[in-house]
Amino acid sequence: MTVVDVQTTRLLAGGIQGDHVALAPHRAIHGDLRPMTQAALAAAAANVHLLGRGGAAFPVATKLAAVEAGPRVEVVVNGSESEPASRKDRTLMTLVPHLVVDGALLVARALRTSRVTIAVHDRAAYASLAVALDERRRAEPHRESVDVRLQPGRFVGGEVRAVLNGLDGRAPVPPGRRTLPTIRGLHGSPTFASNVETFAQLALLGSLGPQAFASVGDPLERGTTLLTLVGAVPAPGVVEVPTGVSIDALLGPGDGPVLIGGYHGRWVSDAHGLRVTRPLLRDARVPLNAGVIARLPTSGCALAEVSAVTTWLAGQSAGQCGPCLFGTNAVARDVAELLAGRTAPQVKARLEGLIRRGACAHPDGTAAFVASALASMSEEIAAHGNGRGCGRPYLGVLPLGGAR
Ligand code: SF4
Repeated sequence: MTVVDVQTTRLLAGGIQGDHVALAPHRAIHGDLRPMTQAALAAAAANVHLLGRGGAAFPVATKLAAVEAGPRVEVVVNGSESEPASRKDRTLMTLVPHLVVDGALLVARALRTSRVTIAVHDRAAYASLAVALDERRRAEPHRESVDVRLQPGRFVGGEVRAVLNGLDGRAPVPPGRRTLPTIRGLHGSPTFASNVETFAQLALLGSLGPQAFASVGDPLERGTTLLTLVGAVPAPGVVEVPTGVSIDALLGPGDGPVLIGGYHGRWVSDAHGLRVTRPLLRDARVPLNAGVIARLPTSGCALAEVSAVTTWLAGQSAGQCGPCLFGTNAVARDVAELLAGRTAPQVKARLEGLIRRGACAHPDGTAAFVASALASMSEEIAAHGNGRGCGRPYLGVLPLGGAR
């Protein structure tokens, strides 16, 4: 695991050398966990404009305030990180598990519940959390029951409602109903569920207080954020950067196509002027999602990378919504046709047919990935038009496969 200290280290403090931070050094860095009320925690999150760090970037304060506090409430840390290119959440759970647990306990205490579940797909992260909880049981007994569950993983299985289904013993796929987990979630109880990094950020917010937390970062979204940088970049791996940093600065010099937001993100032909601030990127219609930023090397075939990921995405459909199952497969075949130098006259219509046609964001995200690739790679597509390909090999820069 490569962890690169690019600019500011707060979440990953102590873990930069790749070591698991044990409880004593964790307490030396972050201090003791100080309980906060639901109102105080929500106010602090609102003060720094904290947004969820999974994909939807939902305001954390709004979600916190929406839960009716009490002993039935479930707190669920979504550690599924099922996108193959992302490494940030497993890095947090593996290197600084106590920060994640502090965040979960802070939320549980604010919501006056003792029920905490951490859902994990990655075995190293699971092992690190288990060691951390064992350490706490001996050094800092707490009344909360923290259950770490190793769940089978697939791409759509990382969607929060799919995670809740899996924890409840059902198939880990998104349900057809769009009921908010804050109303009816795990075991049918009101549930505060969020991404691992969100909980780590809340722990940091509780430890630093809003003023110190907001001492770095963009006014629209204070603090730092974790990114996974992939491909032809100066420092591939997980980085912690202040929000607002220029994407050009992270990418360094180079010309290859740039993907922002991972496999439900967007390809851009020019990242100039874009900054790592979720509200700004959302307004530019380039969502940061779980924080994957990739640049392909010019020595490889970009269209082959897009085709491989599109085929993989089609295989990730949970198969319960017809437009998703058939549409994503048809789009994958269209991209393969373009790669082979043939035409795909139906591709635009098929992409439009995926929009808002599923029970989850998978068809929309797949459509956005492919549509932005086609829009920003016209030269690559033209280079394949003679049927002999572009002459560059498929390098497999964008990883495929499920969670480990
Ligand atoms: S849209 Fe696709 S991935 Fe999402 S629930 Fe339906 S079939 Fe499954």
